[in-house]
Amino acid sequence: MPNPIRDVAPTVADAVANERERQESTLGMIASENHVSEAVLAAQGTALTNKYAEGYPGARYYGGCEFVDEVERLAVERATDLWGADHVNVQPHSGTQANMGVYFAALEPGETILSLDLTHGGHLSHGHHVNFSGQLYDVTQYEVDPETGYIDYDELAALAHDVEPELIVSGSSAYPREFDWERVGEIADEVGAHQLADIAHITGLVAAGVHSSPVDHATFVTGSTHKTIRAGRGGIIMCDAEYADDVDSAVFPGSQGGPLMHNVAGKAVGFTEATTPAFEAYAEQSVANATVLADVLRDRGLSLVSGGTDKHLVLVDLRDSHPDLTGDDAEAALAAVDIVVNKNTVPGETRSPFVTSGIRIGTPALTTRGFGADELETVAHHIADVLDDPDDEDVRNRVREDVQRLCETHPIYD
Ligand SMILES: *Cc1c(COP(=O)(O)O)cnc(C)c1O
Repeated sequence: MPNPIRDVAPTVADAVANERERQESTLGMIASENHVSEAVLAAQGTALTNKYAEGYPGARYYGGCEFVDEVERLAVERATDLWGADHVNVQPHSGTQANMGVYFAALEPGETILSLDLTHGGHLSHGHHVNFSGQLYDVTQYEVDPETGYIDYDELAALAHDVEPELIVSGSSAYPREFDWERVGEIADEVGAHQLADIAHITGLVAAGVHSSPVDHATFVTGSTHKTIRAGRGGIIMCDAEYADDVDSAVFPGSQGGPLMHNVAGKAVGFTEATTPAFEAYAEQSVANATVLADVLRDRGLSLVSGGTDKHLVLVDLRDSHPDLTGDDAEAALAAVDIVVNKNTVPGETRSPFVTSGIRIGTPALTTRGFGADELETVAHHIADVLDDPDDEDVRNRVREDVQRLCETHPIYD
């Protein structure tokens, strides 16, 4: 096949080919990753990358936008069908940019955000001090109950009454349970705040109706478009009608210039795929697979934060079962058998974020490859075997061989 990249930059061509082969030949279990379809890949690699389209469909600052307008209108229409929000903005370049858009729409610098702590499952863009959100706003963070691993909503309410935030952020990167969106919405109402529900990880699960939706309970909902929904890298904002103009102008011109129209095309294609029964089945299976994973790991003596999962990921706390094995060690031992996970801080973390005491394991990418409950049971045992004997060459060889078999029988791109 002719490869125009190779003619110009062979290093890039090789790296791209190697990355594609790496994805095919490893089990991708990073909870935030997935594999988009050939159609989404194709949409992103188009001449739309050449087009400036500052503004919104029908009201652009550049000529020649008639075709990109069609693309953006379709992305908005599909998103409206999938999530049912009053208003949708599909231009944020990423989930973090989507959150920035909401903060700029809803807050003045110095106002107060109440959000979930990073080591308890939150995200950098929820007010961590290394992120703009922690630098521009006054941030108070809530935590999960150390005993149960669940959010204690009475405590969240008490904290909200104490700090009187303008914005309460719900949603997470590593909290394995459903949020009670309605309760957070009530707490927000009590203290005169808005709820921002960040569904970055679960956009696809919510779209498919296999996870509860915050849309009726939160003023603002943000998401990513490359995690459980397979629409290519990017972000999205949904909001109540009365904040539509504020959100749109916070995205452009407030915090971005021209939208990435090739990525908006990816979103339009991926969202269209997400309206199909096949997508619903995938979303359902992602959760079923995570449940199998949780059951096996628990049976094998591993501690899971909150004891299990309601969604597509589990968070393993290694401190009880494997006190000398850090998250970093566990990630490396699994990488050596071609199972790719990420080390992750856990509630009550005592180690640095580069070391950690946990690993986060997700199922969406494997589910996209066609893995079902039987395969997940096998993979879960492999993970437990490796964690129990991380340096045993026999275990490693046996597991690596079976991982290769699973990869070969479940190709990503034919
Ligand atoms: C992944 C994620 C984001 C967005 O991430 P980007 O890398 O900026 O797209 C935002 N919030 C949460 C909770 C996330 O998990």
